[in-house]
Amino acid sequence: MEFDKIEVPADGKPVEVIDEDTDEFDVPETPIIPILHGDGIGNDVGPAAQRVLTATAEATGRDIAWMRVYAGESGREKYDENLPDDTVNAMREFRVAIKGPLTTPVGAGYRSLNVALRQTLDLYANVRPTYYLEGVPSPMKAPEEMNMVTFRENTEDVYAGIEWEEGTEEVEQVREFVEEEMGFDDTIHEGPVGIGIKPITEKGTKRLVRKAIDYALEHDRDKVTLVHKGNIMKFTEGQFSEWGMEVAKEAYSDEEVFAAPNSLWEDQDEVDIPEDAVMVDERIADAMLQWMQLKTEDYEVLAMPNLNGDYLSDAAGAQIGGLGIAPGANFGDARCLAEPVHGSAPRHAGKNKANPTAMILSGRLLFDYIGWKDAAGLVRDAVEETISAGTVTYDLARDREDAEKVSTSEYADAVIENVERLA
Ligand code: NAD
Repeated sequence: MEFDKIEVPADGKPVEVIDEDTDEFDVPETPIIPILHGDGIGNDVGPAAQRVLTATAEATGRDIAWMRVYAGESGREKYDENLPDDTVNAMREFRVAIKGPLTTPVGAGYRSLNVALRQTLDLYANVRPTYYLEGVPSPMKAPEEMNMVTFRENTEDVYAGIEWEEGTEEVEQVREFVEEEMGFDDTIHEGPVGIGIKPITEKGTKRLVRKAIDYALEHDRDKVTLVHKGNIMKFTEGQFSEWGMEVAKEAYSDEEVFAAPNSLWEDQDEVDIPEDAVMVDERIADAMLQWMQLKTEDYEVLAMPNLNGDYLSDAAGAQIGGLGIAPGANFGDARCLAEPVHGSAPRHAGKNKANPTAMILSGRLLFDYIGWKDAAGLVRDAVEETISAGTVTYDLARDREDAEKVSTSEYADAVIENVERLA
């Protein structure tokens, strides 16, 4: 593949896909991994995370051939474009990549560069592990009870972008269709209206739920919970739970996966549940927000439509200490784009003060995905060791009296020291 303004590193090799359905890869000792540092604090946390991930790869006998790519502000500087083809093509070609946050300017004329990237690369599952790191201040009494992974559908629901602005000819056409042809003649209030459409498809649902179940099987988790509002939105969210349960029943053997919707679960005494099976059950989204706080340890893997996933994953992140440490990744078929949950925090940008933990731990997800389990474990342990010893950036230092506040780069140095010591 030819690139316009970026070089393919000569010292690395691409990660090769063996089987797209099962996310199996052939990973060379020095894989080429595209990296986008990102806007705002991305300029601080991006290079810091890159150093830590390089050190972790080296400490486990490997190397990474990083390939710098550009978008957002750096894209405009280098290419005069927000999202250059080079960047999208590199992420597509090399299968796994990591990015920092991108700013979406107000009135930019596009929804978000992040959404554009996820759609272009068909990264349909947004995954966020939410677990407690010792030493992180949390508002909860027992934050360590949370050890959950959320799978949020990334391509449809009300986020698909099918909506019409009030006052336009189109919105009036849609209103007319809904009222006159579909028979909802007394549902939409009179006067100006904005209308959006919420598609939930069998394809979108089943591939997401399958990713969540596969993850549970691979990572020895006992339960996957489908979170939906099917009691109200029967033909979209209700259908999500039905299709999700169909996957659980049809795509796996009874020994592997046991489908237990609420209706069945109430009669659990009458049901023979195979001992080692992953159980797939369901919860209504509003109640789930409550259970997540009151019965935290009962939930392991959640699979959700887009909007539920957005709300629930942020709420879960708050329980274990917030944005500076929350990692994430977007997955497609044999494809991964790791990215921290946080944005570009422009107020703190360029001050060498932001917390690079979220981006470092996003890299850990990438390592896990390509089978570098030892490197994934090592980087997590090194981060936890650093934070619990009291070496933290400003955001975590605020609520800890015993901590030493360090800069982004000093924190990365401390994590690297721990990587080398624990290797
Ligand atoms: P934000 O996450 O950038 O910042 C909110 C606040 O959280 C910050 O002011 C800061 O106090 C704190 N924070 C976030 N990350 C931190 C870190 N690493 N270390 C320490 N503190 C941290 O959210 P926002 O202000 O709503 O968004 C700013 C811009 O980022 C917007 O343009 C938005 O569109 C974009 N954004 C991008 C992504 C992405 O690229 N995936 C995600 C969210 C927001």
